[in-house]
Order: sequence, then structure tokens, then C-alpha cells
Amino acid sequence: MTYEIVCSSCGTPLYSGFDLRSPGDVLKAADYKCRKCGAKLSPTKFQVEVKKLDGSFS
Ligand SMILES: [Zn+2]
Repeated sequence: MTYEIVCSSCGTPLYSGFDLRSPGDVLKAADYKCRKCGAKLSPTKFQVEVKKLDGSFS
């Protein structure tokens, strides 16, 4: 399972990895804004997507 926290404005992944991290920590590290589109991101308005990889690790 891969966890992603993405910008709710442009969909750029702010965090992607196998560990589920607190959105607050991720957004704090990103200075509460998207590095691509510059949208301000609130920890209460984040979007977390959990993506399951398709059989890449057999
Ligand atoms: Zn963005």
C-alpha cells in the first residue's frame, strides 16, 4: 500500500510513501503550501489518497 497526501488544488503529491504520516506533519514540512501551484493548504482541508500498487512487489 502506498499512501499519498496530495494538493487539493492541483493534485501534486506532497508526500508519497509506505508509511502513513500525519497530514499535519507533512503540511508543516511543506510550509502549509503547495510547492507546485502555491495554494495554501490547511491541515483540516488536506486530501489523503491511499493507493494500492498492482502486483509490483511479487
Ligand atoms: Zn497544488
